[in-house]
Amino acid sequence: MKIHEYQAKELLRKYGVTTPRGIPCFTVDEAVAAAAKLGGSVWVVKAQIHAGGRGKGGGVKVAKSAADVKTYASSILGMQLKTHQTGPEGQKVRRLLIEEGADIKKELYVGLVIDRGTQRAVLMASSEGGMDIEEVAAHTPEKIHKVVIDPVKGLADADADDVARKIGVPDASVPQARAMLQALYKAFDETDASLAEINPLILTGDGKVIALDAKIDFDNNAMFRHPELVALRDLDEEDPAEVEASKHDLNYIQLDGNIGCLVNGAGLAMASMDIIKLYGGSPANFLDVGGSATAEKVTEAFKIMLRNPQLKAILVNIFGGIMKCDVIAQGVVAAARQVSLSVPLVVRLEGTNVELGKKILADSGLPIISGNNMADAAQKVVAAVKGKN
Ligand code: ADP
Ligand code: MG
Repeated sequence: MKIHEYQAKELLRKYGVTTPRGIPCFTVDEAVAAAAKLGGSVWVVKAQIHAGGRGKGGGVKVAKSAADVKTYASSILGMQLKTHQTGPEGQKVRRLLIEEGADIKKELYVGLVIDRGTQRAVLMASSEGGMDIEEVAAHTPEKIHKVVIDPVKGLADADADDVARKIGVPDASVPQARAMLQALYKAFDETDASLAEINPLILTGDGKVIALDAKIDFDNNAMFRHPELVALRDLDEEDPAEVEASKHDLNYIQLDGNIGCLVNGAGLAMASMDIIKLYGGSPANFLDVGGSATAEKVTEAFKIMLRNPQLKAILVNIFGGIMKCDVIAQGVVAAARQVSLSVPLVVRLEGTNVELGKKILADSGLPIISGNNMADAAQKVVAAVKGKN
């Protein structure tokens, strides 16, 4: 789960991370009032969307007067902001952050992620902040310093100091950098984050260490123990089909192909997408209905897939272990009737009560194409899309 920059900064401030003062706004009038309230003579008008690269996309502007604040807030609010993280259609800006302008002497990078290899949180830091860290990692990997963090000890003073020096923090500012890095780690750890990135972390003219941007992703599987974080969720930033799916406890991810996939189990769902690709097709979604799908859940899954205007055919691939094939067959028939299915449907069933399941499909009178195994089903659904069935 992602949150906005202003929310991430509010959270980090509670842990002791220094950020510029700022006020989130939903209208141009609020933005102008926020600048007046903050005072000073330089403000930054920042689009709040769940994607980075806003600066390059025109979503971060420095304002030197109240009139500037008004002009930038008017142009950014409501714009379709395109960055390398939004996809070609961009993301509509509905919120702004008005922030005091900082005196940037140097832009650095720090980020925390979970490293699967070491199974630990890893701090990454670089003197090359403010630009795409992916570029730095690809072309000058030696400029990224890493610290693997022991979960029992946390981020040790010596490690924090060492990494701060390596990225060019001057001696006088090292204690501040240490406090900032340790606060960031504490926030990351206590909120079950999967990513906490400060890019840029800046050194100011007077030697202060300030987080100028903040990006946090949380582990969805841990959100049940953080209701205060779930409250920060902004559904406008999420794919509507994925939001609908999450209400029904379905794991759904929209993709750009045209073959809908309804599968039980994440591994089988991945394999189903692979095999569709192998036979020249392209999946419209990842969908794992889980181990205990009811007829209602299967119907909701069909409805969600059918919202996609790209959809040309559906592949149902079920291995009945705990879930029985006859139950899923009943669900498929009920769903196909309820949504008056208009695209070809290929079903492959295997496992418990498979014969009964196949009989239910055959007796339904619906034009369901039966797949004998995964390869057969995949070939049939790809052929159906090409109009060859
Ligand atoms: P993004 O990473 O989405 O482009 P940032 O918050 O990193 O957005 O802003 C982009 C750039 O804008 C920063 O690298 C920094 O140079 C400048 N900037 C952002 N906030 C401020 C601020 N409060 N004061 C001065 N400059 C800022
Ligand atoms: Mg940034």
